[in-house]
Amino acid sequence: MTKHEVIIIGGGPAGLTAGLYTSRAGLKTLLVERGIFGGQIVNAQRVDNYPGFPDGISGFELGELMHQQATKYGLETITAEVTGLEQGHVYRVLASDGSFESAVVIVAAGSEHVRLGVAGEERLLGRGISYCATCDGFLFRDRDVAVVGGGDTAITDALELSQHATKVYVIHRRDQLRAGQVLQRQAFAQSKLEFIWDTVVEDITGEGAVNGLKLRNVKTGGTSTLQVAGAFVAIGLQPNSRCFAKIVDLDETGYIITDELMATSAPGIFAVGDIRRNSARQVATAVGDGATAATSAFKYLQERR
Ligand code: NAP
Repeated sequence: MTKHEVIIIGGGPAGLTAGLYTSRAGLKTLLVERGIFGGQIVNAQRVDNYPGFPDGISGFELGELMHQQATKYGLETITAEVTGLEQGHVYRVLASDGSFESAVVIVAAGSEHVRLGVAGEERLLGRGISYCATCDGFLFRDRDVAVVGGGDTAITDALELSQHATKVYVIHRRDQLRAGQVLQRQAFAQSKLEFIWDTVVEDITGEGAVNGLKLRNVKTGGTSTLQVAGAFVAIGLQPNSRCFAKIVDLDETGYIITDELMATSAPGIFAVGDIRRNSARQVATAVGDGATAATSAFKYLQERR
């Protein structure tokens, strides 16, 4: 078992910034990431609201630059899935690659896409079902597709898909969008978008690939089918906090509760970015969380010595 002073779980902007700060401060730090360094931002074709890049930057490139900068100062990174966290005289992080001990843990594990939970969703994942329009939209050139949801993600996805697809149906369970006004204006002005209101998806059909959706109108109870080659599910996010539920306090929706110094209810555990309650879910706020948590971690370790 390897000992570190700080273990960071999650390699998105929040985790990488925390790692940049702790390693620059001379703390022996390990960052564990299960997927691609950069987190969800790698799926964004363009990031226009992160300061310092007046012409915008691709999310993938931003993630790579953050990883490069953090590791330059000695941050150790590994790719592994964290499966648990145990409390003893220090914390033990259980991962697919073994276990690691440290006095401080910074949880930056983010959130993941909520599933529709209907038949066909798992079976046809990657065969017409997707959670990332930026990643998979180009596969649907000149085809008809659907987006499920009415929030910012759904409308951003629908607008992006309109660049490739012939027609984009937006299926929403209410008769008003949750998305912000600017996105709504853009969406209503895009003639390729067609809105199907007050409707939920009951099933996804197709053998080797998606060929349609079974829909139900929640007001009338009427059912219908919609022929599409793809469906993009954009019905929100849920925090990846299951592993930590026994050790830190979560709110009723599963987000980790922190104070303004990113401290959780457990001494020495800090939480940053999308996994914490009241996160603004922006790259700019995530990096701020990471820097704050690293500063708090440094003080915590000094006081323990
Ligand atoms: P969201 O804001 O939580 O919206 C989820 C949407 O899915 C809502 O319209 C919701 O319907 C619908 N929904 C939820 N559960 C459903 C279910 N089981 N079946 C059918 N529909 C369901 O999630 P999001 O759009 O992913 O956004 C997450 C956060 O990221 C937000 O804070 C958002 O502002 C931010 N974001 C910002 C941007 C941007 O600034 N451009 C882009 C993407 C995301 P109801 O409306 O009826 O609840």
